[in-house]
Formats: sequence, structure tokens, C-alpha cells
Amino acid sequence: MGQVWKGDVRRSTQCTSCGTGYYYFDLVEVREDDPVRFESAMRRAIDFGTDLVPCPRCGKASATMWADWRKKVVKKFAIGIGMLIGFAVVMAIAMNGAPFFYILAIILPLAGLGYLIWGAVMLLKPVTNKRAGIVPGEEASAPPSVQARIAAFDKGE
Ligand SMILES: [Zn+2]
Repeated sequence: MGQVWKGDVRRSTQCTSCGTGYYYFDLVEVREDDPVRFESAMRRAIDFGTDLVPCPRCGKASATMWADWRKKVVKKFAIGIGMLIGFAVVMAIAMNGAPFFYILAIILPLAGLGYLIWGAVMLLKPVTNKRAGIVPGEEASAPPSVQARIAAFDKGE
């Protein structure tokens, strides 16, 4: 698997509905094993990533946020369902006495369920991220979990 860099990226954005400027923290994961690819993957994550964080003023998220979010949800569910179908196929082969397939028969459903849970977590983002957006200068009114991320980010975590 290799090492994975995990950290908050501070994303500044402007609400496309009411024009309020706000920012939010997006937890980004980038694989570290190849330094050259790490650089470019990092740039991509910083420049093009989005998370579904509604505007703290009017509660609306931009069309880009919704589109990226939809893509992520569909991908997670597709991988999860694909793995469960793979599991069914592997089980059928294992029943015919191929020992290696017993290992796959354990890994596939677990990974598949993992992706389905991941998809469900993504699906709930419009609700769970409702208060994740921060208007600069109004950090004091952010919820405690967001304040903790601000503090960690300012420390250079
Ligand atoms: Zn707005």
C-alpha cells in the first residue's frame, strides 16, 4: 500500500448564489511512495479538489460542488457493488474446490461493504457539512469540530 500523506487543505471559495466568500477544510489523502507523482497528485488535489460544503450564509452549494459530489458517491457505490458481484462469482468458483478463491471470498465482501459505507458517508455530506463553511473573520462562531481543524491547520499540522 505504501505511505499516505493525509492533511487538511484550506479551500477558499465564493458562493455562486449570494457571493459570500468563505473557506473550508478538505481532508486530502495522497500516496507518498513516488516523490514525482506525489508532487503532481498533490498539486491536483490542491488545485482541483472540492468538497460539498454549503455557503454559511445562504446554505447553498455551487453546481461544481454538487457535480463533484455526485461523481464521488456514484464511484463509491459502483466499486462497492462491483466487489460484491465479484464476491458472488468467486464464491461460485470456490464452491467447485479452488482454494485461492476462499481468500478472495473473505476480502471482496469486506472491501465491497467498505466502499458502500464510504458511499453512504459521502451521501450524507450535504447534511454533515452544513456548518463546515467559514466566513473569514467569523471563525469564533464556527462549531467546535471546525474550530479544532482551524487550530490544527494554523499550527501547520
Ligand atoms: Zn451563499
